[in-house]
Amino acid sequence: MLSERMNRLTPYVPGEQPQGRKFVKLNTNENPYPPTPLIDEFLKTADIERLRLYPDPNMVELRKEIAGRYGVGEDEVFVGNGSDEVLSFAFYAFFDENNGKLLFPEHTYSFYPVYCDFYGIDYRKVPLGEDFGIEPEEFTTRGDSCGIIFPNPNAPTGMNMPMEKLTWLLDNYPGDRVVVVDEAYIDFGGESAVTLLDRYKNLLVIRTFSKSMSLAGIRLGFAMGDKKLIDAMFAVKDSFNSYPVDYLTQQTGLIALKDTEYYEEITARIIGDREYFADRLEKSGWRVLPSGANFVFAGKPGVPGEEVYLTLKERGILVRYFAIDGIKDFVRITIGTREEMDLLLKEIETAF
Ligand code: PMP
Repeated sequence: MLSERMNRLTPYVPGEQPQGRKFVKLNTNENPYPPTPLIDEFLKTADIERLRLYPDPNMVELRKEIAGRYGVGEDEVFVGNGSDEVLSFAFYAFFDENNGKLLFPEHTYSFYPVYCDFYGIDYRKVPLGEDFGIEPEEFTTRGDSCGIIFPNPNAPTGMNMPMEKLTWLLDNYPGDRVVVVDEAYIDFGGESAVTLLDRYKNLLVIRTFSKSMSLAGIRLGFAMGDKKLIDAMFAVKDSFNSYPVDYLTQQTGLIALKDTEYYEEITARIIGDREYFADRLEKSGWRVLPSGANFVFAGKPGVPGEEVYLTLKERGILVRYFAIDGIKDFVRITIGTREEMDLLLKEIETAF
């Protein structure tokens, strides 16, 4: 009854979204603040008559706004239904086994191997450095590969790849293979690769509205890169679903992009609270990896990550634990409001 293809699927498991008991939810890197209030006005006065019609399949207005914001051409922007979908289209468009395996860091966004299994792409996990950073030389000395993908900052470590390492990697990797930089968390303190797009035609930068724009609920993500790459992504989209981004989502994204002042303010608050929280954790004897994201990856020496996760869950706080060798001693903690972080610190200081 099932297709052969089903045998190779191992679906991604997202962080818990509890429906019953009320938790302090610090497990899926959502933004603790609401999106810009301008969206409230739009949704309350939206013309429902417009919903009769299909949305713009080419998402022209939104792509124009994104292009203006990041200084790229309109034909260098692709938009999709969350960056997960944009990533999936990129895997389909750029990676196959003709040139070798796809490379990504050993500890990274756990959706990447899922897409590989989905599309039948072979992959190799590249070890992180001793400090958990991504080491570009490890990607260029492993024989042939069909491409590279990694998040910057990386997940779940939160660690940034500095610009020198990024350019070194692009300078030392074949220009006919695509390098995808997944910048889901870049607004929280990393250096964006967007400024390198002019120089590297094989670079694709992927972004999301889910984190710094506080819009995980509408599902909106985008990619920026050379027109040839973007055309390929449209070809994938148009072979799958002409209208993956609905009208309300396109309009909401457009409005969000206009309120930079609001978003700069909440982002600065999250960064400030991250530094405060990391500092307090370190003072309590925790190891905290340096983070450029809206979460920290941290562990108390001698206490397994699973125990931290379960103890905090019992106390009504959800964090993310990964039962994976090499990172079992850590949990990933999203930065919430200052009140939430203080509550968590209080629990941590009494429990461990
Ligand atoms: N990339 C990374 C590194 C992520 O952590 C996430 C969030 N789970 C995504 C992409 C996907 O985000 P979204 O689909 O909400 O845009």
